[in-house]
Amino acid sequence: MVERLYYSDSFVRSFTAQVTDIRELSRTDGQSVWQIALDRTAFYPTSGGQPHDLGVLRASSRSGSVLEVSVLAVEEDEHGEVWHQTMKPLLAGTEIEGEIDWQRRLDHMQQHSGQHLLSAVFARELNARTVSFHLGETSSTIDLTVETLGSDSLERVERIANELIAEDRNTGIRSVPRAEADALLAKGILAKLPEREGAIRLIEIADYDLNACGGTHVCSTGQIGGLLLRGVERVRQGVRVEFVCGLRAVAAARQDFTTLTRSASLLSASRAEVPAGVERLLAETKSGAKERLKLKEELALYHAARLAVEELIVDHLRIVRRVFPDRDVEYGKLLASRLTASVPQTVALFALTHQDPALLVLARSGDMEFHAGNVLKQALSELGLRGGGSVDMAQCQVPRNQTEALMDSLTEQMRGMMAKLQL
Ligand SMILES: [Zn+2]
Repeated sequence: MVERLYYSDSFVRSFTAQVTDIRELSRTDGQSVWQIALDRTAFYPTSGGQPHDLGVLRASSRSGSVLEVSVLAVEEDEHGEVWHQTMKPLLAGTEIEGEIDWQRRLDHMQQHSGQHLLSAVFARELNARTVSFHLGETSSTIDLTVETLGSDSLERVERIANELIAEDRNTGIRSVPRAEADALLAKGILAKLPEREGAIRLIEIADYDLNACGGTHVCSTGQIGGLLLRGVERVRQGVRVEFVCGLRAVAAARQDFTTLTRSASLLSASRAEVPAGVERLLAETKSGAKERLKLKEELALYHAARLAVEELIVDHLRIVRRVFPDRDVEYGKLLASRLTASVPQTVALFALTHQDPALLVLARSGDMEFHAGNVLKQALSELGLRGGGSVDMAQCQVPRNQTEALMDSLTEQMRGMMAKLQL
């Protein structure tokens, strides 16, 4: 069975080993992917919420040339074998030198040890138990069995976690027999245990936390480097807390600073004044929108009065037919309703053509005897289109190049109806 070097020392970055087995994975794109097993490895396989390491395996030939293969993924199987995924094969028996991507590993160690610390603080301070952990690309999450978390509680937990980091407490690894681990579980010192038999690996934060875990960890809490809580959301089984540790926390704080500084400069304000500045802008936007609506209504009244005198009543019907290439839908409908409300025997027939399809609005004065929705429906069916509306106002979308034809058809139809009524 493979010797896992990271079990006893998470700081092993390079090592020598021998290839013990190799197998080929079939891939759909026709390219071969290999899985290599070693007698010993410092590569961490994906497990317990922590992603696998990356790195390289190097093999020297007798001639002195060095073959370097990248490790793209690391998995463990149900028998406990660790498989290093590569795009090139290495024969069984080959002596190799392995080197892990240290930046990635250190980042994972900071996040994983940070998770142990954070979960312990939540358990001690709020009696909130951690039920799952996910170490993500940019941030990590834990799920807690609580209903809600107030911002006061979060700030307190974050402060305590950072105080424990500043205390630089020792983070030790030890292995205990299963029976001893079971006893610790019975006493409530351990919260949970894996189901498998054999020795149990424990990670201990001195005088604070003890956890069964197979992951890689820093040597002391100081190496976690700092912890920031980044968000809280409700999930099915409780609350999900997002956090970042170490260099990720620095990167997140830097990004926030850049965003805030840019916002402040757009507002010509200091960073502390940004919330007040945004509130002021929102209030201005709201009052501006109110003012615009008032002006639009006033304009529609004047506009309607002018349109009413521009067209005469012919055979008891005034048709105000207009195409507006630059008016929005809201204004077109407002104008139609103001016009038909202000004068009798009038029909507003407007096409709003700033978009394609255009919008056609048909409105009538209350004293007219036809149904605007039905009239529009009939004219549309002649063109193979659909639409309709109420007795007083109807509307439809119509391809811009068919607008004139539809307006002609509606005009003709309404004139025809008026002629019939006169008989
Ligand atoms: Zn762990």
